[in-house]
Formats: sequence, structure tokens, C-alpha cells
Amino acid sequence: MNNLLLLFFFLLGLIFGSFFNVAGLRIPLKHPFVNDRSACPQCGHLLSWHELIPFLSYIMQRGKCRHCGKAISFMYPAVELATGLLFAISYVMLGLNAEFLTALLLMAMLMILFVSDIVYMVIPNNILLFFLPLFILMRIVVPLEPWWSSVVGALAGVGLLALIILISQGGMGAGDMKLFGVLGIVLGLKKTLLTFFLATIIGAVVGILLLSFKVIHRKQAVPFGPYIVLAAVIAYFYGDSLADWYVAILNKSG
Ligand SMILES: [Zn+2]
Repeated sequence: MNNLLLLFFFLLGLIFGSFFNVAGLRIPLKHPFVNDRSACPQCGHLLSWHELIPFLSYIMQRGKCRHCGKAISFMYPAVELATGLLFAISYVMLGLNAEFLTALLLMAMLMILFVSDIVYMVIPNNILLFFLPLFILMRIVVPLEPWWSSVVGALAGVGLLALIILISQGGMGAGDMKLFGVLGIVLGLKKTLLTFFLATIIGAVVGILLLSFKVIHRKQAVPFGPYIVLAAVIAYFYGDSLADWYVAILNKSG
């Protein structure tokens, strides 16, 4: 591991993170996001270069628009910082190889979906369809062990979510189901099931907290995507250690 490269990938993540914010916000609206400068959503003030530095601008402006003084959503710097950290973690965990590229692609898709699901409660098909062929290609270049774990993972992910949607009627949608299909290819069977398990637990805990602090009310629909995103990141990086730990506990108690 090289410290200079670590810093480089962290900074690269901050920059890509601000692009993922824009992509997640605009792709569901079908806005063209090339040649379109960013503006304050409150007052329309066009942002100059020093107001568009990932993460730093938010800190220096204390989270407010320099023009109208309205608060800038905390989501922007949070997504930028998270992407920076995830790019850095990917480098630390994997080093420079083909799987590192898979990791960066996975983080990219997850961050874009995180933004669009939180803001619009949709997981857009065109984002999934953009990443799907890339993941299939990456799993041909760097197959899982065994290789068919990708195929079974995708089928199990879609099947499990279809079953949940049928039983629960609401909560999870078709977008979540398609996302699990794509995740299955990258993660394989074991980590896809772990992602589902973790997302359900995180969703339940966060849901209870949001209800008890009255951030949301009982009938309110809450996007499930952000929990899947968090769970998929944990499963991708720590899935093997979590499974070992679980088996060790079973062995001790048995
Ligand atoms: Zn403004």
C-alpha cells in the first residue's frame, strides 16, 4: 500500500462523489447533465469554481449558499466524503488489480442509486442497465469462486425480493428487486443473501429510531435502497469475515 496513492484515490472519490450527486439527482429527471453548470436550487445563483470544490466548499461556506444564505443539503458533502472513503477503502482492501476496478464501479452505482432513491424514491432502470454489462464483463475477467455463484446470486436476489414484494405488498419495490439482480452478479450467492439480511436489520433499526424520534410517521413510505446500499458495501468488503465469525459462533454454541 502506498500512502500517496491512498490519498489520490480518496481525493478522486471526493471528485467522483460530487459527480454521483449530480447523476443521482438528474438521471431520474432525464435532464441532460453535460454542459449544465450547477446552480443553487434555492435561488438559481450559478456556482463558481470555488463553490464547487467537493466537500471543502460546503465546510468553508458553513453549509450555506453564499448568495441567498439558504442551507445546502447535507447529502452533497456526505455523498462526496463517503465516496472518497469508499474509494480509499477499496484500494486498501484490494490493491491495484482488476477487482479494484469492480469495486470502484460497484461504489459508483451504489452512490448514484443512494442519491436518487433518497431524493425521488426511485431506482432508475437506466442506471442499472448502464452498470449491468460492466459487471458481467468484470465477472468474466475476475470470476467468483465458483464462477456460477454470480448466476445463482442474481437469480436468488431477484427471486427472494419477488417473494417479499408478493408477501409484504409495499415497502420494497421492483427497483429494489432489479438492484438485487445486479448485486447478485457482483457479490455472488452468499454475499447477496447477507446483503438482504443486513439491509433488513439496518432498515428495521433505523425505521424504529426514525419513528421514535418522530422524523417520520407510521404510514410514511421510506425508501429501502439506502439500506441495501449500506448492506451491499458491508457484504462486499466484510462478507467473508462476517460469515467466518458467524460459523465460529455456531461451532461454539453447538
Ligand atoms: Zn442560493
